[in-house]
Amino acid sequence: MTTSRAELGGTLYDIAVLGGGPAGLSAAVAAATQGSRTVLIEAGARPGGQYWRHRDGDDGALHHGWGQFRRLQRKSAAHHLLDHRFGHSIWHVERTAEGFVTHTTCDDVPRTLRSRTVIVATGAYDRQLPFPGWTIPGVFTAGAVQALLKGQGVLAGKRIAVAGTGPFLLPVAAGLAEGGATVVGVFEAGRPTAFGRHPIATLRNLPKLAEGAGYLSTLLKHRIPYRTRTTVVVAHGTDTVTGATVARLDDQWRMVPGSAREIDCDTVAVGYGFTPQTEIPLQLGCEMARDADGSLVARVDSRQRSTADGVYLAGEVCGVGGAQLAVTEGELAGLHASYTTHGSSVDRRRLTLLLRRRAAQRSFAAAMHQAYPVRDGWQSWLDEGTTVCRCEEVTAGTIREAVGDLGATDPRAVKLYARPGMGLCQGRVCGYATTCLVARANDRQPTADDLRGMAARPVAQPLTLGALAAGDDDNSS
Ligand SMILES: Cc1cc2nc3c(=O)[nH]c(=O)nc-3n(C[C@H](O)[C@H](O)[C@H](O)COP(=O)(O)OP(=O)(O)OC[C@H]3O[C@@H](n4cnc5c(N)ncnc54)[C@H](O)[C@@H]3O)c2cc1C
Repeated sequence: MTTSRAELGGTLYDIAVLGGGPAGLSAAVAAATQGSRTVLIEAGARPGGQYWRHRDGDDGALHHGWGQFRRLQRKSAAHHLLDHRFGHSIWHVERTAEGFVTHTTCDDVPRTLRSRTVIVATGAYDRQLPFPGWTIPGVFTAGAVQALLKGQGVLAGKRIAVAGTGPFLLPVAAGLAEGGATVVGVFEAGRPTAFGRHPIATLRNLPKLAEGAGYLSTLLKHRIPYRTRTTVVVAHGTDTVTGATVARLDDQWRMVPGSAREIDCDTVAVGYGFTPQTEIPLQLGCEMARDADGSLVARVDSRQRSTADGVYLAGEVCGVGGAQLAVTEGELAGLHASYTTHGSSVDRRRLTLLLRRRAAQRSFAAAMHQAYPVRDGWQSWLDEGTTVCRCEEVTAGTIREAVGDLGATDPRAVKLYARPGMGLCQGRVCGYATTCLVARANDRQPTADDLRGMAARPVAQPLTLGALAAGDDDNSS
């Protein structure tokens, strides 16, 4: 799509920050403080993103770093150079002669915002692995359970099994237990003791260690079993979850024969890490890479610049690493983008501090990815009839047939032959699993190109045809 200058009115911002989570909020405050005319655009009704998702009047009891959030939020709200567009869903960003045009919809009304530079901070969403029964109502992603609790104060169920891999399972289980649910167990597929191989990264991030210890003590207080090298491999039920099967896993995550047992639960919360939201960097032609955790991420240099001119990136869109890393990267992106766009001076001492902090936080993230890898053996939990793409009801068997019988060598070809990723979510849910299944059936590991094939979406967020048609009007805001 191209938008001519004549169609656009309104302010030309120095910087548009796309996404109001920890990274975007920090970037917007830094940019405005440096004297750049900035706009923060966020789909949600308020800032905070996933980590600081909250309700009106929230006292922060469920949050870490709440004081830091409140400080950023206050600065953001008060700064005369910083405008906010909450409730604006960004569906496309295009390059123009003067910089960028960000296309959004708000209450189904299309809007455009012009800026000289963009900082993309669109974060990540849950990474899901299919298993028999995962489409039964009552099976949630761990992030969805957490979002319900933090955003609405709602418990997803009464007797909840938390399963998957990674440290994120801990706050989810701790939050549910403190909220009044019975957590029947945390089933960690990996071996968290592998963290012990990274003592330096751990010691450089003591607050993270303290946060983890806090969650573990909550688990102890509520007598929640924590089982490692174990996960939920089947969810049972028809209209709702009535139980689950958990099994021990070997080093490659294949089930240990004879180890499967049924547990009684009405809800399963599953999390296997996160998938960065890369639609906008892909739209803007940023170079991508496959990160240590197997995700597709946008590449950045030491200044948080992408490979596309005028496009900065911060937070999980350029690598999953937690909220504190997102805040640091956000501030760095805000400072550097301001310097480039607006010529503002940079406080060298602050910059040095931020660079050191980012290095420490990135080393912790790297240790986390090494300690909690997703192993291929999850594919052996699936039978041929297990649904992988729930939108188009495509099974694991159909995907394997597309490779074995039709000769598809990459996920895009499988998408064309068998339709996984063609439905409403456009591969957001099944993209990772499909990519892994196709690579494995071709006897190889997934590549960045495979992941890109399932992640490229010219329309980043759903919008109605009415909004699209109305977009021809001059309605800049
Ligand atoms: C569901 C979920 C819950 C999580 N809960 C926790 C937790 O409790 N504890 C923890 O340690 N970590 C949690 N995480 C991990 C968390 O994502 C990060 O550590 C941290 O929030 C990353 O910050 P960020 O700014 O990079 O991204 P995010 O926090 O994801 O913020 C990105 C923001 O961009 C907005 N956005 C994205 N795309 C668009 C678009 N097209 N248009 C407009 N706005 C857009 C989103 O609405 C969001 O507010 C959670 C992750 C998920 C997916």
